[in-house]
Amino acid sequence: MLQNRGFILNTQNLEQEYDYIIVGQGIAGSCMALELIDRGKRVMVYNDPNGNSSSRVAGGLINPITGRKMVLTWRAKDLFSYLSKFYKKAEAKLNKNFYCEIPIYRPFVSIEEQNEWQGKSADKDYKPFVQEVKTKSEHENVVSDRFGGLLLKKSGYLDTNSFLKATSEFLKNASQITNKKFEINSLNFIKKFVVYKGIKAKKVIFCCGVEEVGSDFFPEVKFRPVKGEVLKIKIDPLLNKVYNRGVFIMPRGGSHTVGSNYNHKDLSWEPTEQGRNEIETKLKTLLLRPYEVEEHLAGVRPSVSDRRPVLGMSKGREQLVIFNGLGTKGVSLAPFFAGHLVNNLIDGTVIDKEVNVNRYF
Ligand SMILES: Cc1cc2nc3c(=O)[nH]c(=O)nc-3n(C[C@H](O)[C@H](O)[C@H](O)COP(=O)(O)OP(=O)(O)OC[C@H]3O[C@@H](n4cnc5c(N)ncnc54)[C@H](O)[C@@H]3O)c2cc1C
Repeated sequence: MLQNRGFILNTQNLEQEYDYIIVGQGIAGSCMALELIDRGKRVMVYNDPNGNSSSRVAGGLINPITGRKMVLTWRAKDLFSYLSKFYKKAEAKLNKNFYCEIPIYRPFVSIEEQNEWQGKSADKDYKPFVQEVKTKSEHENVVSDRFGGLLLKKSGYLDTNSFLKATSEFLKNASQITNKKFEINSLNFIKKFVVYKGIKAKKVIFCCGVEEVGSDFFPEVKFRPVKGEVLKIKIDPLLNKVYNRGVFIMPRGGSHTVGSNYNHKDLSWEPTEQGRNEIETKLKTLLLRPYEVEEHLAGVRPSVSDRRPVLGMSKGREQLVIFNGLGTKGVSLAPFFAGHLVNNLIDGTVIDKEVNVNRYF
């Protein structure tokens, strides 16, 4: 018999033992579960079927060169070689298709920018991601590109909903998912273990997205959630690459996803007229073809103040682990950093300072 939080726990009544409990099955929780299972660990995932999930709204774009200034994504070299292997392996394991490699075309806004990229494309960091620097307009019937543009490789998208569904089905077949809300108040600690409703595990890994904000166990983490909206539009015929300048227009599943905008003030999950106008204004600057809006979605990204993922143990309890802070680029960040965290959990490797939750302590 053990005393804990005022309750008396009888260890003989414990029914099932797992290595890890994972809370949340968005992109973060899904990647964690697949990595851990791949390393031979037993997991039990809890996912709230009524909870909000940024992953279900995400465009899913995988873009190595981002932003208005077109800069290389942070740690692109590590992330991009890892994610392509990870998602391809997941497709084979789950027997479903959800990962698509497709070029991104980024029109230049000036001749200076074109010149700059002719030099930059030879740079050893950029070279792996640049397919070609176009010096003439080649897409004038689709987008405005009178100064040419940058054609990127190693880019693409994840059909996030198909990935989440395939992972959930796989876990369900292995009896390793419970589609219920995880209730913190029912969590207990026995020495180095946790016990939750008859389940014993070494650790709980919280992959709860914005729901983690204000959590009891990681009060130090400075979340800075960012709302975003996307439109699903019809363009006839379908585009054969992603176009990206101001917004991205991405052919996905017989339609096109267009996004996104960034709002720190309104953190509701409701689409707004203002969000739609913002996206459509940029869309009309880029796209030269007629389109029809089919759907309008909104979500809140789990971002943190320094815009780096958050990984590691709780300050007070080594049984509690966080994997969060994936912000605007969860699809690119999750595979590599799930692997990074799993290496720490299983082999005791050190978590990088930049992403370690202890940077907040
Ligand atoms: C409009 C928009 C567009 C975006 N576009 C892109 C893009 O193109 N590319 C890209 O890389 N990223 C994009 N993102 C960002 C991306 O969505 C996030 O980085 C990523 O989805 C975060 O995943 P997550 O698993 O951490 O969180 P979430 O997807 O929010 O998942 C958290 C899960 O935890 C569950 N949960 C929470 N609390 C509990 C509990 N107590 N018990 C059980 N379950 C619980 C929730 O129900 C949810 O399923 C976009 C985001 C938005 C909003």
